Amino acid sequence: MSKLIDGKAAAQSVIEQVKSATGVLQHETGTVPGIAVVIVGEDPASKVYVASKSRMAKECGFHSVQHDLSTESSEVDLLTLIGILNADPRVHGILVQLPLPPHIDSGRILQAIAPEKDVDGFTFVNVGKLGTGEIASAFVPCTPAGCMILLEGARGRDLSGLSAVVLGRSNIVGKPIANLLLAAHATVTVAHSRTKDLAAICRAADILVAAVGRPEMVRGDWIKPGATVIDVGINRVSAPDKGQGKTRIVGDVAYAEASEWAGAITPVPGGVGPMTIAMLMANTAKAAWIASGLEIADFDTLLCDRGPCVTPS
Ligand code: NDP
Repeated sequence: MSKLIDGKAAAQSVIEQVKSATGVLQHETGTVPGIAVVIVGEDPASKVYVASKSRMAKECGFHSVQHDLSTESSEVDLLTLIGILNADPRVHGILVQLPLPPHIDSGRILQAIAPEKDVDGFTFVNVGKLGTGEIASAFVPCTPAGCMILLEGARGRDLSGLSAVVLGRSNIVGKPIANLLLAAHATVTVAHSRTKDLAAICRAADILVAAVGRPEMVRGDWIKPGATVIDVGINRVSAPDKGQGKTRIVGDVAYAEASEWAGAITPVPGGVGPMTIAMLMANTAKAAWIASGLEIADFDTLLCDRGPCVTPS
């Protein structure tokens, strides 16, 4: 039977470390980490995400501001706001909630964020740092960073000699995870929609990260016995067994089957999902820490003091 990688417990542990780092920062420099969350339009899912980010920021003791712009706002309006936030010393992290309305060029907006306030890790400076292994000073995208903490709980920090397969090559998830796995010394294969015989490739993986957005695509017999499986997927599917019109969330991995083979596996929900907001808080605290001139190594030490997140399922 596989072990369950408990993302809720791991996320709570990260939040506790963020709170204590925030306390140290405030005590030593008087600085309170500040985050600005920007949302454009009325997308209900985005509103829910933004509300939970703002709520968590307050729980961490951050200065938190939210800017709600109307769907009709122009690219120039948004660029102007980002310019103001870039210059505001109380704001250490800026998050622009995606997706943006189609008349706004998301790439141009994300690249306008000052790299030292880019807590989502999407600017070219932070992408470049991650790609070249300058991870200590980089802001790493939150979901991949969270995946690595879950993996660390299951396999340790050094993945030397282990084979890792990442399903998906998006800029937000697949590519940054591949870079993080490489930096942890795993031997990495990145597969995508043009890859042949995915099942065979997956069967060779000691570590399998699924980020394709295809409900339960990865079957039990794709899993190498004893492998660690990180399921990033969040897919809403219909659930007639719960009643007419009802839905449920499933991952990219067929959990019940896969847990028969895997050594450890993340559930969906309750696996990678909770880590994303926790890592946003960690990145914001890190941005404030660096802006205050404190040693980044001390911040990393504070954040490493976490309990185990792997339990028998
Ligand atoms: P994208 O749609 O941007 O990328 C999907 C990737 O999967 C692409 O590289 C695509 O290949 C590949 N892919 C799609 N279909 C197949 C297939 N049949 N076989 C092999 N590869 C395939 O998605 P994201 O990376 O943004 O997200 C992936 C999943 O993770 C989604 O379910 C999303 O909801 C979830 N997610 C979860 C988060 C969390 O907090 N837990 C945060 C972000 C995302 P190609 O490049 O060739 O098109």
